[in-house]
Amino acid sequence: SKWVYTFGDGKADGRAEMKNLLGGKGANLAEMSHLGLPVPPGFTITTDVCTYYYDHGRTYPDTLTGDVRAAVADVGAKVGAIFGDKDNPLLVSVRSGARASMPGMMDTVLNLGLNDETVLGLARQAGDERFAYDSYRRFIQMYSDVVLDVGHHHFEEILEIHKEEKGYTLDTQLTPADLKALIAEYKKTVEAELGRPFPADVNEQLWGAIGAVFGSWRNARAETYRRLNDIPESWGTAVNVQAMVFGNMGETSATGVAFTRNPSTGTAEIYGEYLINAQGEDVVAGIRTPQYLSKAARVAAGDTKPSMEESLPEVYVQLVEVFHKLERHYRDMQDIEFTVQRSKLWMLQTRSGKRTAKAALKIAVELCNEGLIDRETAILRVEPQMLDQLLHPTLDPKAARDVLTRGLPASPGAASGIISFTADDTEKLAGEGRKVILVRAETSPEDIHGMHAAQGILTSRGGMTSHAAVVARGMGRPCVSGAGALKIDAANQTLTVLGKVLKRGDVLTIDGSTGEVMLGEVPTVQPELSGDFSTLMGWADAVRRLKVRTNAETPLDAETARRFGAEGIGLCRTEHMFFDADRILAVREMILASDKKGRETALAKLLPVQRGDFVKLFEIMAGLPVTIRLLDPPLHEFLPHTEAELAEVAAAAGVPVSVIKTRAHDLAEANPMLGHRGCRLGITYPEIYEMQARAIFEAAIEVGAKAGATVTPEIMIPLVATKAELDILKGKIAGIAKAVAAEKGKDIPYLIGTMIELPRAALRGGEIAEAAEFFSFGTNDLTQTTFGISRDDAAHFLDDYIRAGIFQKDPFVSIDEDGVGELVRLASERGRAVRPNLKLGICGEHGGDPASIAFCEKTGLDYVSCSPYRVPIARLAAAQAAL
Ligand code: PEP
Ligand code: MG
Repeated sequence: SKWVYTFGDGKADGRAEMKNLLGGKGANLAEMSHLGLPVPPGFTITTDVCTYYYDHGRTYPDTLTGDVRAAVADVGAKVGAIFGDKDNPLLVSVRSGARASMPGMMDTVLNLGLNDETVLGLARQAGDERFAYDSYRRFIQMYSDVVLDVGHHHFEEILEIHKEEKGYTLDTQLTPADLKALIAEYKKTVEAELGRPFPADVNEQLWGAIGAVFGSWRNARAETYRRLNDIPESWGTAVNVQAMVFGNMGETSATGVAFTRNPSTGTAEIYGEYLINAQGEDVVAGIRTPQYLSKAARVAAGDTKPSMEESLPEVYVQLVEVFHKLERHYRDMQDIEFTVQRSKLWMLQTRSGKRTAKAALKIAVELCNEGLIDRETAILRVEPQMLDQLLHPTLDPKAARDVLTRGLPASPGAASGIISFTADDTEKLAGEGRKVILVRAETSPEDIHGMHAAQGILTSRGGMTSHAAVVARGMGRPCVSGAGALKIDAANQTLTVLGKVLKRGDVLTIDGSTGEVMLGEVPTVQPELSGDFSTLMGWADAVRRLKVRTNAETPLDAETARRFGAEGIGLCRTEHMFFDADRILAVREMILASDKKGRETALAKLLPVQRGDFVKLFEIMAGLPVTIRLLDPPLHEFLPHTEAELAEVAAAAGVPVSVIKTRAHDLAEANPMLGHRGCRLGITYPEIYEMQARAIFEAAIEVGAKAGATVTPEIMIPLVATKAELDILKGKIAGIAKAVAAEKGKDIPYLIGTMIELPRAALRGGEIAEAAEFFSFGTNDLTQTTFGISRDDAAHFLDDYIRAGIFQKDPFVSIDEDGVGELVRLASERGRAVRPNLKLGICGEHGGDPASIAFCEKTGLDYVSCSPYRVPIARLAAAQAAL
């Protein structure tokens, strides 16, 4: 097979499409050669060689030596130089280049081919002795570090001492004599460290560097990067050997990096930096401050050092032409590296540039408007998750931050405020106009009012689907969860982190997009939903099949979701309405009542309040479908805790505190998630569901009458395992519907359906569909019950599972297609076999996750439902899934 692909001089063996074989860098160097751009000639040793290398005990295919020798000779012929020649030496760079870009993870060697003899030839050819010896010095340092494992610091020390002795402050003050002395010292150090001299043989140098690049594929840095970015080990890297061009040959030479559009705003402008008289790594290393490319950018920044447009105007014009050519060819914004050697431009790299969400939208829309890409391509160019960046306030990137610790990025956005340790206190402080960060070990449903009042939420326990995370995302509040380094002492109102003690009232900033927790206030910038956002979302809406609904129960959330384009409510968790200040007492009275009569008295107080809630939701959703789930959590979540709360409930119910205490004790459960919750409550206490159903029907009639249209509520029963449960509850609800219809003299259309969140319900989907008009997959609970992993505590060991490769991703974030997904598929098929028009949706957290949405599209669900701030993400992901 062919192991080596050459490029340069307007020709190449490879093409841009051959990234798998040639790596990104090699494929694009070949492509640029075909385009007739000035690319220093060279060759790519393929990723197949990397695979061979690791499969054969780090050895190469037999023919490779000959192929490389021929390719080196070919490069020499193209540039008119000879590798290892003492009069006219060819120098090369040796760089890695994997299929996916892995910036800075693998090794590079520049100026290869220098020794005590060739350096003389280089000096003569360049007419510049200082340049030649400076290159030689750099080469020894880089090669020793990368190939021989003699670290940088050895050489930096020698250089510093030398400069100090001479009284120099800058490297540029070093004379050829200084450099020669340094080289001698460098070589001595290498020999002392290795017990053998620095290799003078240029072929030994070359094979050393090739081996080092292949070897670096498996260095610790690269392995970590691959794990974090889902890059398979098996891909391997290619090696690119290329004739050196020099940006450090005096004042008409330079090196630079550029983007063809601004990667942070997306604006079509020349964006980049260059350094005169420097070599590639100098720009990245940050030793000297680079200068602007365009005059406009320089002026805008108030910089006085000349831009490239001013200092090298002809080359600049040429560079701008290259940018246009590359963009038109690749039809995307490019990230480019170039070198200018004595006023001649050379292209070293091009690839699609990384960009912010804002830039991604602008570039996709503008490239489409410019006719370079079609709408479908534009839709596919924007990663849905990125939209999150646009919807929330973010930290001002220019602001300083004092990071205390890090937790999970549970709900995006940034917020600052004073610390408060309880929900009540948070609400009180917020009422006084203060900005508050609610800090809790973990949150529970009774903290909702505090979470609502807070700017952000910080917890020391809990994972990505913990209560705090789910609720915060729903509300669009930034949240950092599971920051394990925090020691929270709520009783004494202190928070200790790394020995630092913070009190109530101290200021914190959290970044729910990164998980960072910072001391003091870090300024934020507000989101700006630009025209590009709505343009692209409009295109996405036109192609998607899946409907997108929202999980919402407060009017604010429902309105937010509508603004973001939600097409109805897929899950209204009624229990979240139970904690508001105007009703929690009645809720407690209801659950602690010792008999049905007591419950009914309390439920009568709740009925008008719930009806009012539903009226608002129906009005906001104006005819769009609204799915209301009847009470789900175990009653024990609503229990009063403090003596004062117990006394308050006793007074309201007119019974002694001791009675309330006994009842509260009876209701406590050891494993409430698998306990007396969901439809099981409806079976035991039918009057609760009956009250909720009545509230829904009365609200539907009220809103319908006002709007002159019918409201068709969708009533959803949670945690069903059997058809029998559903039959019983359906019967009760039908009874209420009939009663309300008779009272009001109006027919009430409604749907009744169930959540599928237990494996048994999924397996019996056929039978359950006989009773249910819709299924909504509650994949939070379905994941929990399928794996037998608690959604509240799993964070402790999920990381270990991911690291060990047992899970590819957190199954609470991205649906487990093989297991949980199979249950969803089965239930859908069996359900639709019985009831062909069975409406299917998903309302677990997965409804806002792009990978899970692709699964929903494949499985033929009708809609996904997600928290308001994920609605735009879901709209875009659904469009991409349909393409
Ligand atoms: C679910 O279980 O996926 C669901 C949506 O219900 P909840 O998160 O309220 O249990
Ligand atoms: Mg559930």
